[in-house]
Amino acid sequence: MKEIIILGSTGSIGRQTLDIVKTYPNLFRVVGMSCNSNIQLFNKQIAEFKPQYVFVNDKSAREKCELNGAVMLGSSEELVSVPLGSIVVTAMVGISGLLPTICAIKAGKDIALANKETLVAGGDLVMALAKEKGVNIFPVDSEHSAIWQSSNYGKAKDIKNLILTASGGAFRGKTKEQLLNVKASDALKHPTWNMGAKVTIDSSTLMNKGLEIIEAKHLFNMPAEKISVVIHKQSIIHSLVTYNDNSVIAELSYPDMRIPIQLALTYPLKIGTKLPELDLTSVGSLTFEKPDLNVFPCLEIAMQCAKKGGYYPCIMNGANEIAVEAFLHDKIGFYDIPDIIDNTLAKVEVKNEITLDGIFEVDLLARNIAKQLLQK
Ligand code: MG
Repeated sequence: MKEIIILGSTGSIGRQTLDIVKTYPNLFRVVGMSCNSNIQLFNKQIAEFKPQYVFVNDKSAREKCELNGAVMLGSSEELVSVPLGSIVVTAMVGISGLLPTICAIKAGKDIALANKETLVAGGDLVMALAKEKGVNIFPVDSEHSAIWQSSNYGKAKDIKNLILTASGGAFRGKTKEQLLNVKASDALKHPTWNMGAKVTIDSSTLMNKGLEIIEAKHLFNMPAEKISVVIHKQSIIHSLVTYNDNSVIAELSYPDMRIPIQLALTYPLKIGTKLPELDLTSVGSLTFEKPDLNVFPCLEIAMQCAKKGGYYPCIMNGANEIAVEAFLHDKIGFYDIPDIIDNTLAKVEVKNEITLDGIFEVDLLARNIAKQLLQK
């Protein structure tokens, strides 16, 4: 019986994780859960899964929490540090995932990593700490799970480069002119994957793929130059690994996050899922295109930041979170997102040595500058 702690149980990944727990009640037990503010769903989840420990981030929502015998803790960091639980699913959104992930690693718990901002902002520190503590970081993001599987769970030696596939987001195939006046509601009609609002907007700007390049760089210890992106609108191939002999290994399935989530929980076993078997003849054709960096400048920005490393990805991420939030509330246009990120990157002074305090300092600075740019 594997004891699981889920950070962000009411979000898309959290709900799908609980669906897996429900399918395999003999394999998994939820011992801890947290949410931001969706208290109605959280109360239902507590009643059904009966965790020992919970945390609710939003204060007014916390007062409405029906504990059902659970203990309310004071923070996500406390929640991941309880003596129960061998793996933490980090399914919350944004940089808020970084500190609890570090605390979970310090507590010796494996990480099922669904929060990409953790590695984007703090990849160097997090990977070094995991190595020091002998903790596994299992990817939950579908692309990284595909690379993980295609690289013999990260054990393969002769890897030449990595290819991340992208659905292309809601605005695939559009021109810059067509996108000048799009709204968040247009982006939220995402074609293939069912995801939360932040990820869906990031997907429509291709920033999501940029964040995934940085995530892949850290997870698989690959230079950013060796990671490329290809648009694959069917979302059947979830990513590929090219070996030194130029043979390529890929992972294929219908797009459903329960496969990578479940593998992160059951590794090294691949047990059954409720999903249908892939029928290639019904899929028909698989197509591939180059991403248009002129139409989707966020991907270009992220590629540059991935190559530069240091604090650049952290600054980019902070500015992106602010810009996406503003776009979601129709306060800025689609192309204001890359503009705000670019201008923030130009304004934040970059320090040398990477520390956890430095990351939070730089993140806050980037957010403040991005917020000032929103006013203009
Ligand atoms: Mg992904």
